[in-house]
Amino acid sequence: MKRKAAKAKVGSGKGEAGAKPRAAPVRKARRIAKNAIGPYALEVFSRLKREYPDAHTELDYETPLQLAIATILSAQCTDKRVNMVTPLLFRTFPTAASLADAPPEKLEEIIKSTGFFRNKTKSLIGLGKALVERHNGEIPDSMEELVKLPGIGRKTANVILGNAFKKNEGIVVDTHVARVSHRLGLTRETDPIKIEQDLMPLFPREDWALLSHLLIFHGRRVCEARRPKCEICVLNDICPSSTV
Ligand code: SF4
Repeated sequence: MKRKAAKAKVGSGKGEAGAKPRAAPVRKARRIAKNAIGPYALEVFSRLKREYPDAHTELDYETPLQLAIATILSAQCTDKRVNMVTPLLFRTFPTAASLADAPPEKLEEIIKSTGFFRNKTKSLIGLGKALVERHNGEIPDSMEELVKLPGIGRKTANVILGNAFKKNEGIVVDTHVARVSHRLGLTRETDPIKIEQDLMPLFPREDWALLSHLLIFHGRRVCEARRPKCEICVLNDICPSSTV
C-alpha cells in the first residue's frame, strides 16, 4: 500500500526548524467597563507588586551606555544570552569612542550568538560615533535626543530613561507587556505606541518603570505566550482572559 508522503514543513526563513508555534487558545479579552478600569488596573499593579517584590530589568549593566548596548543586543534575543556576551563586550569596548572605532569583524564575533549580529554591529558602531560627535561620548537623558541615536527607538529609550536615569517618560512595551496587557484587558491595541498610550493614564507616572518590569516578570513566569498558567496566576479571579 502506498503511503502518503508527509508534507514538508516550511520555516519562516529565520532559521526555524518547523512551523511557527501556535499560541494556546486564550479567551479573547473583554473590555473592562470604562468606569471600572482605573481601580482594576491599580488592583492588577498591587497584586503583581506583591508577587514580584524584586522585579527589575534582567539585563546586567553598570552605566547608561552599557544598558543602551545591552538593550540593543536584546532585540530578538533572551536577556540571559545577552548577559553571557556583555562582560567581554564591555571589557573590549568600554567607551563610546572605543565602540565608534571598533573593527566590525571583532564586534560581530563577540555578539554573534545574540542573532542579527550584522545589523546590531552597525547600530553599536553608529551609536558610538553619534555619542562621540554629539554628546561628548555620554548617553543623553532625554527622549528627544535618545530616539535620534542609531539603534534606539522609543522602547529602548524608555528602558534607558526608566532604569539608568530613573525618569518615567513612558512605559516600555515589549512583547511580554503587549501580550499580558492585552490578555488583562488593559488595551485592545496591537501597536506598541498605542498600547503605551492606553497604559499611561491608568497608572501613576512614578510607577511606569516598575509596571513594565512587573508585566515582563509575569509574562516570562506565568502568563507565557504559548500557554498561560492561569491556574497559578494571582490575577485569575479578575483577568477577563483567565481559563480557570
Ligand atoms: S489569568 Fe493570568 S495567566 Fe491567565 S491570561 Fe490572565 S494574566 Fe495571563
